[in-house]
Amino acid sequence: MNIQFLDLKSINIAHETELKVAFDRVLNSGWYILGQEVKSFEQEFANYCETTHAIGVSNGLDALHLILRAYGIGEGDEVIVPSNTYIATWLAATYAGATPVPIEPCDATCNIDPARIEAAITPRTRAIIAVHLYGQPADMDAIMAIATKHGLKVIEDAAQAHGALYKGRKVGSLGHAAGFSFYPGKNLGALGDGGAVTTNDTCLAHKLHMLTNYGSQKKYVHEEQGFNCRLDEMQAAFLRVKLKYLDDETQRRCEIATKYSEGLKGCPVTLPFMPADVKSVWHLYVVRTHERQQLQSALAEIGIATMIHYPIAPHLQKAYSSLGYKKGDFSVAEIMQDQVISLPISPRMTDREVDFVIESIKNFFTK
Ligand SMILES: *Cc1c(COP(=O)(O)O)cnc(C)c1O
Repeated sequence: MNIQFLDLKSINIAHETELKVAFDRVLNSGWYILGQEVKSFEQEFANYCETTHAIGVSNGLDALHLILRAYGIGEGDEVIVPSNTYIATWLAATYAGATPVPIEPCDATCNIDPARIEAAITPRTRAIIAVHLYGQPADMDAIMAIATKHGLKVIEDAAQAHGALYKGRKVGSLGHAAGFSFYPGKNLGALGDGGAVTTNDTCLAHKLHMLTNYGSQKKYVHEEQGFNCRLDEMQAAFLRVKLKYLDDETQRRCEIATKYSEGLKGCPVTLPFMPADVKSVWHLYVVRTHERQQLQSALAEIGIATMIHYPIAPHLQKAYSSLGYKKGDFSVAEIMQDQVISLPISPRMTDREVDFVIESIKNFFTK
């Protein structure tokens, strides 16, 4: 058997007819930037996330970066971020000119540990970026309580968590604003780059519509020095098709995750832990083992692709050497960096493929 980590072609070909209709609609409209498709998608995605506003943007990083900008966060400000996230979360802060302040995750959930946040708050702290890592919502009630007490903005990094639920509420509606990515490999993926901000803050939504479009509301009138960070009509049209199937695809991801969790019980790996009040959308199925390298090689040999999310924590990246961190500074993130391995998961995986992965992992540990 040959099991890809994520077979994007099969995911998108499943919607071939509708995607081609969407393509023709945009082609024939003669209108390719900021038109009816983006407007409709923004409405549909806001409805999906249970927010009053969604603003289409160019990608997930720009979504997060522009939220910080729109809130006036920048030079001299500090933004609290998880120590074990994808680097984009940190880049959003540094793009805006702010300093990322890393906080370690809970060992069980891999999400930011609210109990460690308050000790890191200084007079310069302006915001917390809470990442819903691997598709599982962070502990938002605890984070919001701290933010309210200290007058901070809470920005959800929901790039991996479209449709996930926290105490029955959709991610994207839990903080002051949220950034989503529609990178092709995300649970809701475009056929190129794309992103969105969701919020119930009308003033912020207005500001973001301007910031993403050259700081302009009226053509050739510029209220501020904005950016060109728009979602385009073609991607919006594709995303409208794919949004209709997102819940079905998430359902399949959940079935696969359940199969993995039951099948791998008893193996000497740490399985993902789900708090009772959250519903993950299983962007990734991540286990931990001291024998990661050996396991990954053994699986590769029999045609099973796995990945590491992520092999180098942001504080140890050369890109952030200027922050002066060294090995040992964030030990929880470093243990995760050394032990995590993501198993293949995609809405198109068959039960036979999932069973083969489970059996292969069991074989590895019994030989
Ligand atoms: C993918 C991702 C982003 C960035 O999204 P892009 O669309 O690639 O810019 C941000 N944060 C997290 C956690 C991500 O996984």
